Amino acid sequence: MGKVYLVGAGPGDLELLTLKAYRLIRSADVILYDRLVNPEVLLLAKPDCELVYVGKEDGKHLMEQERINELLLYYAHTKEVVVRLKGGDPFVFGRGGEEALFLAQHGIEFEVVPGISSAIAVPAYAGIPLTFRGISSSFAVITGHEDPKKGSSSIDWESLKGINTLVFLMAVSNRQEIAKRLISVGREPKEPVAFIERGTTEEQKVVITSLKELSENPPEVRPPAVMVVGEVVRLRGSIAQMIRVICNGYINPLLCVL
Ligand code: SAH
Repeated sequence: MGKVYLVGAGPGDLELLTLKAYRLIRSADVILYDRLVNPEVLLLAKPDCELVYVGKEDGKHLMEQERINELLLYYAHTKEVVVRLKGGDPFVFGRGGEEALFLAQHGIEFEVVPGISSAIAVPAYAGIPLTFRGISSSFAVITGHEDPKKGSSSIDWESLKGINTLVFLMAVSNRQEIAKRLISVGREPKEPVAFIERGTTEEQKVVITSLKELSENPPEVRPPAVMVVGEVVRLRGSIAQMIRVICNGYINPLLCVL
């Protein structure tokens, strides 16, 4: 009987992998990985490690969650070190909780290895601090996957009025509706919004807009992207400039892609 590790692979930049994730990936007998996992991470695996792609394609599940669960069960019975590798952190919108529950219910030994979530790392690489003394003392991470027009939204939109910085994941297709909804609950239309596409990678791209503009005439944004709403977005200019200066020779040049 093997052990399953629910491992966070970080947001993209290979160097944001934790030492624990690195060690487990190197010793894995099988790795079940998602679409947002940087393929370079898989190159760290042993030559005889089995690599199983279980990601989503075009927004729909390539493999239904039940099928992934079945595979976890199968490999837990046939291999020793089973790594279930997910983008960012496994417990931040990664269905890691569901998989942990499933493993627990089936008496499979497992361990969770947190990863650096795109929710915090992607804004950081773009020069946006989620909190800042005097400007933002709170932030929330919210799914943008739900269409806010639908009556059945599980998000308490009213409560988002009182949080300084809002970070939406999976928000690209609903971005216009999200902006409208935030304005309708009383967020300032002039509030700046940043979309950071493919953050922490060489293809990182930042699109800046406002809630008003987004609600009326949304700019083009390609997934995967992190959406940040809040006054902290305005700090980006000066911080990005500083990062560029530091970049001259000292820090990862990826930081220059702002
Ligand atoms: N568990 C992951 C999130 C899974 S949901 C984590 O902790 O990061 C998938 C969403 O994460 C994407 O739709 C996008 O909003 C965000 N995302 C993940 N990697 C990203 C990246 N490199 N750049 C921008 N957004 C990213």
